[in-house]
Amino acid sequence: MKADILIRGCTVLTMVHGEVISKGMIVVKDGLITYVGEEQRTPPVDADEVIEAQGKVAMPGLVNCHTHVPMSIMRGVAEDQELEIWLTRSIWPLEAKLTAKDIYDGALLSCLEMIKNGVTCFSDMYFHEDVVAMAVEKSGLRAVLAPGIIEGGDPERGEHMLEEAVKVVKKYHGYANGRIRTQIGPHAAYTCSPNLLRRIRDVALSLGVGIHIHLAESRETVRLVRRMYGKGEVSFLKSLGLLGPDVLAAHGVHLTRREILTLARYGVKISYNPVSNMKLASGIPRVKEMLEFGVTVGMGTDGPASNNSLDMLETVKAASLLQKIRYMDPTVIPVKKALEMATIGGARALGVGHMIGTLEPAKRADIILIDFRKPHLTPVHNVYANIVYSARGSDVDTVIVDGRILMRDRVVETLDEGEVRRKAQKTAKRLLSDRL
Ligand SMILES: [Zn+2]
Repeated sequence: MKADILIRGCTVLTMVHGEVISKGMIVVKDGLITYVGEEQRTPPVDADEVIEAQGKVAMPGLVNCHTHVPMSIMRGVAEDQELEIWLTRSIWPLEAKLTAKDIYDGALLSCLEMIKNGVTCFSDMYFHEDVVAMAVEKSGLRAVLAPGIIEGGDPERGEHMLEEAVKVVKKYHGYANGRIRTQIGPHAAYTCSPNLLRRIRDVALSLGVGIHIHLAESRETVRLVRRMYGKGEVSFLKSLGLLGPDVLAAHGVHLTRREILTLARYGVKISYNPVSNMKLASGIPRVKEMLEFGVTVGMGTDGPASNNSLDMLETVKAASLLQKIRYMDPTVIPVKKALEMATIGGARALGVGHMIGTLEPAKRADIILIDFRKPHLTPVHNVYANIVYSARGSDVDTVIVDGRILMRDRVVETLDEGEVRRKAQKTAKRLLSDRL
């Protein structure tokens, strides 16, 4: 039987029990991995596409667990501000002016950036996820899209946004050959009322999709929830029945040990977003305890307006370094753990660990190749260390999603890079032209 893609001659990190295959081979057929192991010359594998990958490292694509892709349009417009001021004075007024076309242009720019950085799957929360879905479909990426809901004291608005979210979920869950899945995205405990959050829980259960929510992002938001409801954010969400294994909580910066234990007990997943947390000076989450208590933790960039890139390899390094400083302990989040969190950990956090996140037969073929023929990736004593501490997004030279090659030798095949950049630049300029 003829394969679709044969990759050979490379080091392979399967991300299964820390396995490293020094001269490995991967075979892809019908979007699935059919073989991963030592390179075999006999019997020879016939394939439509043979990738000779000597000097490269193959691994599962990176999973970005929390972002807001249309916000790439706002990259660099609001710098060096605290979260509340950043949101209320800079971001929300601009977001109110965004059209569907702006969102598409921004989403496509982010998809392009992620492909170029080796991200094969991302989890997004924003308005108009139907438009984001179009960008995802065109780019060839995999995504879990959560239509965002911000009620902001207006129940009618909340109800309307929930209705829109339901439409998106119904239409796009399983869309694009299953590459697109959906969740519902209540923005946070302090922007949605208890009534609406309860409704969202029920609707998500009835639709069989998860929930993506911001949680304990800054000291101020934690105080706000306490002032509004007289209890901590986790207790508040628990009282509404909102905790469960299908919930992805972004940030969790200001969680107490007790709250982390509660999340672990309910199986809530967390996206750790170190660069955004540093940039907005939100704080450093207790990731060591999260892992010790058995919480599934993935990593995310957060939106490109608070990062300001979607470079997951940068995030992986920052994630590890920041935790070492948090605990003043260099053994916290060792290299294998860091890379695991950015691949299979992220996949599990998004509820797709059975499909992606490792290189194993029967999993979807989401594979990246990192070109190690660089001074900063030489010598190779520890391949994990080179990827976590030395590699950059620009070292990724091939990206495959669902068995389709999206980038080859750093050339993206699904998108016209120049056109995507030009359109995004033009849209950003127009959006900001009548800014106060
Ligand atoms: Zn966010």
